[in-house]
Amino acid sequence: MTAAEPMNKVTFDIARVRADFPILAEKVRGKRLAFLDSAASAQKPKQVIEAIVHTYTHEYANVHRGVHYLSERATVAYNAVRAKVQKLINARDENEIVFTSGTTDSINLVAQTFGRATLKAGDEVLVTEMEHHSNIVPWQMLRDEKGITLTVVPFRDDGSLDMDAFRAKLSEKTRLVAVTQVSNALGTINPVQDICRLAHAAGARVLVDGAQGIPHLHTDVQAMGADFYAFSGHKLYGPTGTGALWARAELLDAMPPWKGGGDMIRSVTFAHTDFAEPPHKFEAGTPNIAGVIGMGAGIDWFLSLDRDGLDAHEAELLAYGTERLAEVPGLKMIGTAAEKCAVMSFVLDCAHPHDIGTILDAEGVAVRTGHHCAQPVMEHFDIAATVRPSLGAYSCREDIDQLVVALGKVREMFG
Ligand code: PLP
Repeated sequence: MTAAEPMNKVTFDIARVRADFPILAEKVRGKRLAFLDSAASAQKPKQVIEAIVHTYTHEYANVHRGVHYLSERATVAYNAVRAKVQKLINARDENEIVFTSGTTDSINLVAQTFGRATLKAGDEVLVTEMEHHSNIVPWQMLRDEKGITLTVVPFRDDGSLDMDAFRAKLSEKTRLVAVTQVSNALGTINPVQDICRLAHAAGARVLVDGAQGIPHLHTDVQAMGADFYAFSGHKLYGPTGTGALWARAELLDAMPPWKGGGDMIRSVTFAHTDFAEPPHKFEAGTPNIAGVIGMGAGIDWFLSLDRDGLDAHEAELLAYGTERLAEVPGLKMIGTAAEKCAVMSFVLDCAHPHDIGTILDAEGVAVRTGHHCAQPVMEHFDIAATVRPSLGAYSCREDIDQLVVALGKVREMFG
């Protein structure tokens, strides 16, 4: 069985997708590369690499401020990315998109503007037990500063969110629900549409962390009903240091700015500053010009895929991977919710995840090991770490097969 010949009727042309990623042809430690670490950061298609090279080679200058040719070219290319993000998540207006350096930056922006301006002592922010640290720590910092309460909704042992507990913890004190669309440590897909409906009925706003959702799920922020949506460009086949925050226009209008500086103002005197309209009000300083243009190329690449084919391919591969891993003696999956995608966290009875990761690396298999910036998830299972193979659009059966063979070597070494 080759990567180009999946067993079921998937029409997704995986060989063509893989051909877009030059790095996948690299040999690692003399072995074929099985890259199973896309949840940490996805590899980049040549279209993204070329867009960045093209920008620096032909169209680079600072944006917004120049009247000269290169500045105009760069500004047009940079500004065009807002409409690409709008299309990607079906936002109502491109001015609802704020460029950030990634999900972490987007969540901190919401905490430091919406949170700081509207939350007061006694108000509650509801997070889930499966949040990434970037959707916990900003709220903790605000809690310590403003006396708000951080309430945690637990997940069940299979990794699914306990919606009964969510309903029970939601109250008139809840001002914000901050929830991940997909768990990076468990792969769980959360019912964010239901969460938004219930939260709104209780008078709370909802921030959805889309870092792991956007590369795998059809995301429509209007249908979802969220108030804020954060994602990172680098997990969506774009460059690092890029991302976006989407927020409803009326919220962005009401939110005070966070970082002050150039480009976010209309006029400045020593006595007073008039701020620009959103999204510019939240984009102080010279932005990551070539990075944003690269993110736009990543979005174009992603949206050019046969999405139904991709969905089927990823679902088939997750099922195949789960089945193959179950053959490994002593392996326990961490995160077995019915609704999950792209992540196959596990522990093995004979070896520590870091040792496993090192042995897999020697076999050309790249996986993440550790707590995945989700220590409360590790605490739930009373473990220190997991091994986390994760899938991208270019992942294939050969990657899984190589992983399983390499795990056989781990068993041989550790007994
Ligand atoms: N949220 C989730 C669910 C993630 O998986 C990650 C990164 O792994 C983040 C937030 C943080 O993303 P970034 O480091 O790109 O800001």
